[in-house]
Amino acid sequence: MLRERYEQVKASLPPHVELVAVSKTRSAEEILALYDLGQRAFGENYPQELAAKQPQLPADIAWHFIGHLQTNKVKLIAPFVQLIHGVDSARLLDEIDKRAGALGRSQDVLLQVHIAREETKHGFSSAEVTALLARGDAAEHWPNVRICGLMGMATLTEDRVLVSAEFHDLHDLFKKIQVAHPELLHFTRLSMGMSNDAALAIAAGSNLVRIGTALFGERPSR
Ligand SMILES: *Cc1c(COP(=O)(O)O)cnc(C)c1O
Repeated sequence: MLRERYEQVKASLPPHVELVAVSKTRSAEEILALYDLGQRAFGENYPQELAAKQPQLPADIAWHFIGHLQTNKVKLIAPFVQLIHGVDSARLLDEIDKRAGALGRSQDVLLQVHIAREETKHGFSSAEVTALLARGDAAEHWPNVRICGLMGMATLTEDRVLVSAEFHDLHDLFKKIQVAHPELLHFTRLSMGMSNDAALAIAAGSNLVRIGTALFGERPSR
């Protein structure tokens, strides 16, 4: 079952699109089963859950943190996390920079942009991201952080026209930033698309999708 789902998901992705297998609420055994099929990038939403699972699983897993990250939880994942998708404040960048510096690491992050109509989703507005980067000194300001791109979540709706428009807006912002900020050497990744909207996200320019349900099946409620 897992193998069939995995093959199906992979077959649906163009070669330039990276798959992060979203493993929140999944056991170490379930994660290992997908690892054994060849998957290496896994995404988690809760710092404590990720910090507990990481030591139980192979060291060559690339852990992505995709949830909302509170500043006081950065230390739990800072020693090993490969990419933090949901950075939504300068204060969080300050903390990530501090923790990464203390560990002698350089931390890759994505800035989360609020593209959905829902009030509850975290993230910068487009104007805030533009303002944050406007000075062009991010690399000096956060020397232990590499800003590698943007992340966004579309409105949870059946309205495909709306979802597609939101993804296209984020892609436009991503391209604008690339043109305006050649000094951001690593600004190449656009994380958008989940199980139910990955195809729309890829059509709009995503190169990193975060997929859980389509791989592991429905999540048990927490
Ligand atoms: C849970 C989650 C996903 C995966 O959602 P599925 O619908 O299970 O594919 C992707 N991104 C984020 C931020 C999530 O919290």
